[in-house]
Amino acid sequence: MKTSLMKKTVLSISLFLMAGLTGCNGSLPASAPEQAQEETPQPTEEELAAMRRVETLEPLLEEAENLAQSYRYEEAAAVLAKAPEEFAQDEEVTAALTRYKEAESAFVPYDQPVRHIFFHSLIVDTSLAFDGDYMENGYNYWMTTVDEFKAMLEQLYANQYILIDIHELCEEVTDAEGNVTLEAKQPLVPEGKIPLVLSVDDLSYYEYMKEDGFPRKLLLDENGEVKNLYIDKDGRENIGDYDVVPILDTFVKEHPDFSLRGARGIIAATGYEGTLGYRINDLESPTLKEDRETVRALADRLKETGWLFASHGYGHRHTADISMDTLVEDTNSWREEIAAYVGDTDIYIYPYGEEIDYPSDKLTYLQSEGFRFFCGVWAAKPFVSVKDTYVRQTRCNLDGFTMITRPDSVSDLIDASKVLDTSRPELK
Ligand SMILES: [Zn+2]
Repeated sequence: MKTSLMKKTVLSISLFLMAGLTGCNGSLPASAPEQAQEETPQPTEEELAAMRRVETLEPLLEEAENLAQSYRYEEAAAVLAKAPEEFAQDEEVTAALTRYKEAESAFVPYDQPVRHIFFHSLIVDTSLAFDGDYMENGYNYWMTTVDEFKAMLEQLYANQYILIDIHELCEEVTDAEGNVTLEAKQPLVPEGKIPLVLSVDDLSYYEYMKEDGFPRKLLLDENGEVKNLYIDKDGRENIGDYDVVPILDTFVKEHPDFSLRGARGIIAATGYEGTLGYRINDLESPTLKEDRETVRALADRLKETGWLFASHGYGHRHTADISMDTLVEDTNSWREEIAAYVGDTDIYIYPYGEEIDYPSDKLTYLQSEGFRFFCGVWAAKPFVSVKDTYVRQTRCNLDGFTMITRPDSVSDLIDASKVLDTSRPELK
């Protein structure tokens, strides 16, 4: 309110000055400008300072406030430090700086194992996913619908959960010889908040899902934001929020305090059908080159907005069962065909949640490939273990199977009875 009033004042002062100094219709007699100048009331020093405040300080105050809403207090303070000298003692500036400092120092360490929840691509049209064909039961088990996901976000937010970056679970320690090891860390969160890691598996928009009511791909819309393409039953193309990524982005935009310093989730990508809806593994594809560029641009934007990538194995193989040679081949394919476009990662999310032994040759190999975070799936309890060179965390699937067969195991997160989509058939 104050800002817009001030802006109006400045605008009218500026227009008035312009009219006074230049003459507004060009038909005034030669002596007119001098007369006009005499008649124009000069802005007072106070008014000029007010103008400078609106032009230079207020945008900074706004930028800082936006950062502070997602707990980026240090960045917010750094923005205010850019304010011109004359506003260094401005009441609003000093009050904001005090507020940021107090909020930051009120963070507390979270001393429980951090929960990690995960999803697959969301079902947009339940009448297509649950249409009685042979895929129906699988979708009913392992998938979540758009409505359920949105209801879960509301509940997680109401239950004081806050998204954090998985890297908050440990810190690097360097010894005198320069050796780097990992140590467990209790993430610092605003008092009363419960840290949470989120991931979304596969996200290839596989061919088999095409006619079953799922989105087709991710894309960058005309504003450069990550959205989905969803083709509905009648063949209409829709661009919007139809899957975990854009729905969560929009939710965090509306509730910036649901994310610690902008953290979103981890995209656990496979490779055997490309990624994000683009078949960048298919060397015969006529759109290979542009698809690879699109994936690169999408990945850049995703990472810029707090998303991380993980390897979910190139071929979605059973990591524990396959031979070492196959694991090496699979990992090389992921690096060459997927990481080359989405970037390197230190997170490995086991296909089928099937973990390898700790320690083991396979673990040593995956570590040599740069992976340090290893995530399996355990139903019962959250579990995090940090050893010298790796972090192990279990994940919990918030899908039909969990909500129907063991809702109590996730009652700290959500009330499944209030989330379950009524269009789900009986679980067989
Ligand atoms: Zn998977």
